[in-house]
Amino acid sequence: MDFYRYLLIFLLFINYNIFSQSLDSNFTLVIDPGHGGKDPGNTGNGYLEKKIALSIGLKIGDRLKNNNINIIYTRKSDVFVDLYRRAKIANDVEADLFISIHCDAHTSNAYGAGTFVLGLHANERNFKIAQKENSVIFLEDDYQQKYAGFDPNNPESVISLVLMQEDYLDKSIVAANFIQKSFVNRLKRRDRTVKQAGFLVLRNTYMPSVLVETGFLTNKSEGSYLNSNKGQNEMADAISEAIINYFKALDNLPNINRGKKEIKKNLDIYEFKIQISASKTLLPLKKYNFNGLTNLSVKKEGSIYKYFFGSTSNYNEAKKLLRKSKNYGYKSSFIILEKNGETYDLEKYLNEL
Ligand SMILES: [Zn+2]
Repeated sequence: MDFYRYLLIFLLFINYNIFSQSLDSNFTLVIDPGHGGKDPGNTGNGYLEKKIALSIGLKIGDRLKNNNINIIYTRKSDVFVDLYRRAKIANDVEADLFISIHCDAHTSNAYGAGTFVLGLHANERNFKIAQKENSVIFLEDDYQQKYAGFDPNNPESVISLVLMQEDYLDKSIVAANFIQKSFVNRLKRRDRTVKQAGFLVLRNTYMPSVLVETGFLTNKSEGSYLNSNKGQNEMADAISEAIINYFKALDNLPNINRGKKEIKKNLDIYEFKIQISASKTLLPLKKYNFNGLTNLSVKKEGSIYKYFFGSTSNYNEAKKLLRKSKNYGYKSSFIILEKNGETYDLEKYLNEL
């Protein structure tokens, strides 16, 4: 957490005059308005999340485009875009920050704006929010292959997402804190604080990434505020200010290397899994199909489906998982390694160590 600590200390001593200073470096921002097309998002009080997210997203882009910030959108109109594709757009342009815009819904009268980074949901409520946003993959074609058996409705399934973005977590938290601070100080929105939850769209990006729940459409007054031009302008102002603050902070940190080449070097993600079986048929990833094991995933290779148990970035942890799968009756199961999502030679990896 060195970067985080350094930045927080640093921020105590400065006070930016935001729009009067331009940024020294060039930054690339990817704006991801949630949902779209056949997926309306939540429709609390008859408002459309997809429409509000797009409007706020476009307004953020308009405000930031003349500030030495290169703006890329995952969508600029009412179209459906796979979660996987959204992350890929950001990876392809090597963005400095990925921001996904959403609106929340709840059966209670809950209200307030919240900002999320990828992580383990600390409670049921955070899981529910991620579950709702992740469930859009059911509308995608071939989602089982694309997300390797990820099941939005299974809290354990989410755990395997979490280790992937660790490298970028510190910066994600810093960016999220700027956004949350801006909501509270500038807009006097109720502070729902920065939280962690297993959002699939944040999992596949290789850069600091945040997801903003701008407020609750299900709350009568907040819903109508977010659906109004005034509300959307104010949210866009607050988020834009926060993004400038974040980039400005990066600009001013001499000892923190935020160079893209540096980021690329750290990009390798190693993930160990236990291959428990292979088959020509696609089995639902339910524990009754796998001797009671959970935390399952599947990958199609040629005409064969390979089934895996567990996921960890730690080899010793993988050895424990292997013992467990053997205890569950998978006597010939073995450890496999993936590097950045591709199968990688385990022997070679161990030799390199
Ligand atoms: Zn959403």
